[in-house]
Amino acid sequence: MKLRAPVVRSLCTDCGVSRMADPSACGNACQFIKPNYPMMEQAAHGRSRKGGDELFFGPFQGMHRARMVKPLDGAQWTGITTSIAADLLKAGKVQAVLTMVSDSNDRWKPKPALITSASDMDRARGMRMGFAPLLALLEEAQARRFSRLAVIGIPCQIYALRKLEDQLGLDRLYVIGTPCSDNTTTENFHRFLSLLDTNPDNINYLEFRADYHVELRYYDGRQRVIPFLQLPISELPSDFFPLTCRTCVDYTNVLADITVGYMAGEGDQWVIVRNERGAEMLAGLGEKISLQPIKSHGKRQAAVKGFIANTARAAGGLPIRRMPRWVRPIVSWLQPRIGPRGLEFARTRVEMKAAETILHLRHTLPSKMKNMIPNHVWEIASRYNLKPLTGERLDKSENE
Ligand SMILES: Cc1cc2nc3c(=O)[nH]c(=O)nc-3n(C[C@H](O)[C@H](O)[C@H](O)COP(=O)(O)OP(=O)(O)OC[C@H]3O[C@@H](n4cnc5c(N)ncnc54)[C@H](O)[C@@H]3O)c2cc1C
Ligand code: SF4
Ligand code: SF4
Repeated sequence: MKLRAPVVRSLCTDCGVSRMADPSACGNACQFIKPNYPMMEQAAHGRSRKGGDELFFGPFQGMHRARMVKPLDGAQWTGITTSIAADLLKAGKVQAVLTMVSDSNDRWKPKPALITSASDMDRARGMRMGFAPLLALLEEAQARRFSRLAVIGIPCQIYALRKLEDQLGLDRLYVIGTPCSDNTTTENFHRFLSLLDTNPDNINYLEFRADYHVELRYYDGRQRVIPFLQLPISELPSDFFPLTCRTCVDYTNVLADITVGYMAGEGDQWVIVRNERGAEMLAGLGEKISLQPIKSHGKRQAAVKGFIANTARAAGGLPIRRMPRWVRPIVSWLQPRIGPRGLEFARTRVEMKAAETILHLRHTLPSKMKNMIPNHVWEIASRYNLKPLTGERLDKSENE
């Protein structure tokens, strides 16, 4: 099926809705207009988030540190995400999985695909950087009369999917989410790779690890690890990350049935089971997955405060690094040893993201703040004295 051209909108990650027969559906579906998380959480999970860790990560039944007992070749981490989907296909619970594969000309460019056999799920493994119109293929799924579907997506795609869910006429929908932050266009990402290596085409894997290092892998089997503080961030243009991804309000994919990430995993993966369907998917992996309790170490406040000060100074662009060059290797060595780890690292990142959303929107698009920033983001940021100015927040009654 040939994809329609997108309708260009100012805040848009081309999730695919604007390419569907009725592009005006964006008005209802889009995360970047006036998201209503309490209502959407209620619809997806039967309840909205409570306090405690749900304030940061959304509703959940349980969380695990996890890994596939036999990690899968080509997977971003150990392949839990694609294994869950493969299991659904194998068990006949779904007829197709809607997800991303790589563009045939560029390993880093995502391309949406409907996968119908478990063995084909290996094509989806691994992370790509960029945007591609995942949800436009819901129309192809309808044309092929798939009534039981699984979707793997990042938060802005899953928000729109949940908004459209009732009108898809599906008998069953399984939603597998990954966290997402700091996405950018595939073209920008290629620029970043070329700053990391003189031969960027040899790189076939990149990950921002929870131990404050970026890991690179190469087609010839080499591996390289770079501390965050030694990344060439100051050499990137200030619009390297699109405003959508600097102001996105759902880091951990709170509307998925199950979220598979790594932030609280301390070197392993992090699985958040949000509802019964999520629990069913995890159970499907049986002995193939190893599950352990999540732990939490360190204190996040100083790291978040420093990040907020940098972000405020950068005034809408990338946080600037004021640390002298010679100090960076020492701090890089110290960070994984004394910095927040496990669940505390995940809370740190969610708090940073909440602050980023507020500061970047206040600087660039203040008129959007009232509708775009949900109450839970204000609540998360309030402990750092980031409070709404007049007109920046909806009354509680307007958000329900
Ligand atoms: C841009 C981006 C940023 C991320 N940032 C974080 C983060 O900050 N913290 C965190 O815990 N996790 C993050 N993740 C998720 C993380 O990289 C892993 O995808 C996740 O931990 C699952 O690993 P896995 O081995 O189970 O995945 P695999 O089994 O290898 O499966 C990966 C799945 O992700 C899909 N996918 C890959 N690229 C994209 C894309 N561009 N758009 C949509 N879907 C895609 C694939 O189609 C596949 O289904 C991010 C993912 C992306 C795409
Ligand atoms: S719903 Fe999707 S396609 Fe429409 S404006 Fe939002 S991100 Fe773009
Ligand atoms: S950071 Fe947010 S807006 Fe950007 S691609 Fe990821 S989920 Fe979408």
